[in-house]
Amino acid sequence: MHYDFIFSGTGAAALSLLLRMVEHPAFAQHSFLLIDQDSKKKNDRTWCYWEVGDGFFESIVCRKWDHCWFHGPSFSRDFSLKPYQYKMIRGLDFYHHCNEKLANHPGVVRLQAKVLQHGQNQDAAWVDTTEGRYEGTYLFNSIPEIPKSASAKEYHLLQHFKGWMVTTEKPCFQSDRPTFMDFRVSQQHGTTFAYVLPLDDRKALVEYTLFTEQLLTPEQYDAGLRNYLAEFLQIDQYQVEEEEFGIIPMTNHRFSPGEGRCIHLGTAGGHTKASSGYTFMFIQRHADLVLQALVEGKNPIIPARAQHPRFLFYDTVLLHILKEGRLSGALVFETLFKRNQIQSVFRFLDNQSTLPADLRLIATLPTLPFARAAWVSHA
Ligand SMILES: Cc1cc2nc3c(=O)[nH]c(=O)nc-3n(C[C@H](O)[C@H](O)[C@H](O)COP(=O)(O)OP(=O)(O)OC[C@H]3O[C@@H](n4cnc5c(N)ncnc54)[C@H](O)[C@@H]3O)c2cc1C
Repeated sequence: MHYDFIFSGTGAAALSLLLRMVEHPAFAQHSFLLIDQDSKKKNDRTWCYWEVGDGFFESIVCRKWDHCWFHGPSFSRDFSLKPYQYKMIRGLDFYHHCNEKLANHPGVVRLQAKVLQHGQNQDAAWVDTTEGRYEGTYLFNSIPEIPKSASAKEYHLLQHFKGWMVTTEKPCFQSDRPTFMDFRVSQQHGTTFAYVLPLDDRKALVEYTLFTEQLLTPEQYDAGLRNYLAEFLQIDQYQVEEEEFGIIPMTNHRFSPGEGRCIHLGTAGGHTKASSGYTFMFIQRHADLVLQALVEGKNPIIPARAQHPRFLFYDTVLLHILKEGRLSGALVFETLFKRNQIQSVFRFLDNQSTLPADLRLIATLPTLPFARAAWVSHA
């Protein structure tokens, strides 16, 4: 059977685009094949992002905040985020919401199978799975494949983190103020911070995060979380209701947006911001553009904003600094937040700032190490 659209991998990026498509009248008669090896029935991740106003997934935002804390090794500030809000969506709410909406479209078919490879010929895109070969007019691929380049200028760090959803008997959390980043924790393994996302005053997701090349042992993440709760939140009595573990690639690898009938989405398409790991809003903006192109009959291969050369260069410089370790990541982030408005930092991290604004922000960072890293990355 031939489908109009095949989605290879049905996580955040595929579902963000698909939902927009099935809700649009232009796709009422189209057929969609959704392939994923996972049933997506677990709360496998929590997405946080900043946004101005309501977004496409507003109805499933479980918590949003107008303020947040930043803690550096020697500086702390309670930031007002206006006009932004920092928002949180639970993975399972996202998958349920999408499944409910997709159930209303008669053309949606699901297949639980492992994708082995994909390709295209003149007439169709194809995908080989453990259940056989399927063909479609377009293939949207969100299964990441990140080949390590031999180039010394391509950096591959990992953002890896473990989180505990913690509940306490007594009120322990400031429910209207998440902690965006807390660098007061030990930096012995490399750039390390914690963050706290309070659902109310007795329940919060507490995460222990590193930007390094190597993963830790499971015991080391647990020790990091225990120490953070005891030392910085002064919480000794708590229950761990849920756990989360994640690895996000931080790389300046140049991702292909796709070609011909194959379009790459999400992390596979380079929509993960190399220096921060934030992806969710890049995915949303890309999904809007792809939908518009499809509706207007234009080419739906749209390069990732996270791959914009100017911003990829800034990311490369920061990755170089984190990898070399000559300047501590904690100091870089502390300086960034101490000497800039958080709204300017958000615009910069969103790849939406202007060149003059970038130059002003970059001028606040330690000049010599950044100039050196910029020279090495550029030369
Ligand atoms: C635990 C975690 C927390 C995160 N938190 C944030 C956050 O707070 N904010 C933010 O902006 N970003 C966050 N990210 C980064 C990013 O937003 C997510 O990884 C996001 O899910 C990326 O969307 P995607 O569609 O590219 O990949 P995914 O959502 O991972 O979807 C890819 C899909 O492909 C399927 N798949 C993979 N291989 C195969 C195969 N061979 N055959 C069949 N199916 C396959 C997987 O099962 C999966 O469903 C987080 C990532 C993780 C892992």
